[in-house]
Amino acid sequence: MTEKILRQKKQEQTPQARSRNFEEVSLGYAPERARLEAGRCLQCKNPLCVSGCPVNVKIPQFIRKIKEGDFCGAYAVIREDNYLPAVCGRVCPQETQCEGRCILGRKNEPVAVGDLERFAADWAAANAAAGKRQLASQRAARAQPAAKIAVVGSGPSGLTCAAELNTAGFDVTVFEALHEPGGVLVYGIPEFRLPKNIVRREIDALAAAGVKFELNAVIGKLFTVDELLSGKGFAALYIASGAGFPLFMDIPGEDLNGVYSANEYLTRINLMKACADADTPVLRGRRAAVVGGGNVALDAARSALRLGAEKVYLLYRRSRAEMPARCEEARHAEEEGVEFLFLHNPVKYLGDARGFVQKALVQKMELGAPDTSGRRRPLPVAGSEYELAVDAVIVAVGTQANPLIKDSAPDLETGRSGYIIIDENGKTSKNRVYAGGDITSGAATVILAMGAGKKAARAIGGIL
Ligand SMILES: Cc1cc2nc3c(=O)[nH]c(=O)nc-3n(C[C@H](O)[C@H](O)[C@H](O)COP(=O)(O)OP(=O)(O)OC[C@H]3O[C@@H](n4cnc5c(N)ncnc54)[C@H](O)[C@@H]3O)c2cc1C
Ligand code: SF4
Repeated sequence: MTEKILRQKKQEQTPQARSRNFEEVSLGYAPERARLEAGRCLQCKNPLCVSGCPVNVKIPQFIRKIKEGDFCGAYAVIREDNYLPAVCGRVCPQETQCEGRCILGRKNEPVAVGDLERFAADWAAANAAAGKRQLASQRAARAQPAAKIAVVGSGPSGLTCAAELNTAGFDVTVFEALHEPGGVLVYGIPEFRLPKNIVRREIDALAAAGVKFELNAVIGKLFTVDELLSGKGFAALYIASGAGFPLFMDIPGEDLNGVYSANEYLTRINLMKACADADTPVLRGRRAAVVGGGNVALDAARSALRLGAEKVYLLYRRSRAEMPARCEEARHAEEEGVEFLFLHNPVKYLGDARGFVQKALVQKMELGAPDTSGRRRPLPVAGSEYELAVDAVIVAVGTQANPLIKDSAPDLETGRSGYIIIDENGKTSKNRVYAGGDITSGAATVILAMGAGKKAARAIGGIL
């Protein structure tokens, strides 16, 4: 019976409407639709979906609650393992995690675990009084504030660690370099995919629960790691400073006006509100080229459209099969009119007399044998170069660790590209200093960063 119900689609803005506004694309489920989708779950005794979730959310249990109409109960179940369900429901790569393992996916479409998670979180937020009652028991167990802990960075990893330690009774201060907390959730992922009020809601709740936030506080400049541990009296430190240092391709013309790193481009739009009518310095290209094939590249391409570009090309040096972006984002981008140029790579940018980018010299590629990442290596096709007229280029070919913290703490052991080395509990080479998220793994995902924050919080709780 259950398999006859098809996977329920969420409502979405039409591609024509959404490609010109920054409002959220997906509108989520209405309650009846969520219950119908929840009814598709087989409530497996050995739920493979749970093993696919990096923080092991009790998926069948929360889905059962949705099916029964106990939406706040569903939210409470998710919150036992995941501090940011409204975020994860929107941005996790479910197709390679929970939904990728769902038994229904073998013959039909998997249960829409992410959409159901989002539904429960949004419902609990909209019905806050009921949500608070459900979570009251979790708060009642809290001990009195004890030792002081410093968290460096307020992205998903830092926030999760802070939340766990705060619940365990510690006195937690989060130091954030920017003027707004949230990490990539606020400065990277655009509003149309993750509305900022959702992130703010979670941060406000943390602040209301007693976590202190020190903004515009660049650790490594304002205080060193040792100063936090000694002079400032913090008993332990969790470093979750992310991997926000943009990489370029080191090709001619990258210094031309109109060539941005995706990090800078998205930060200007998200934090400096270049998307509103405000007078902002971001260049609104008519013909934009975005280089890369991940979520960051797609976010930049879709933002360029929303800023008014008539044509947006996505230049990706591999094929569609190797694209690391979430499937939904790729589908949305194509529907909105982004033109994917697979097996294409820029080799040079050419500018006009004023130093503004005018053209990209693009080379075609072909796939060779797999490289160390397991993906087939892209190889240039000799003589295939051609010019593409563009007036904005956004480079999204990866990021690495910002060296600031390491430079101020020479005894903090780092490895490949400056990422901090940790043991299986998140402990670094320095006593009482832990780290996790993108600053240890390199650019990864929200849920992995959260999982690392949770693990380190437990380890810190264990030593104090
Ligand atoms: C545009 C974009 C789109 C993405 N889309 C997705 C997606 O759809 N799904 C997904 O799962 N993942 C996505 N990711 C990846 C995901 O956002 C990251 O893996 C995740 O945010 C890492 O979390 P974090 O807490 O380790 O670091 P971050 O989120 O990077 O947070 C680090 C914080 O530390 C602060 N900081 C840095 N240095 C210092 C210092 N010296 N002192 C004080 N503070 C400091 C930074 O300002 C920042 O706020 C995306 C990333 C980007 C950039
Ligand atoms: S694997 Fe799929 S059907 Fe089974 S419990 Fe998980 S979501 Fe439900």
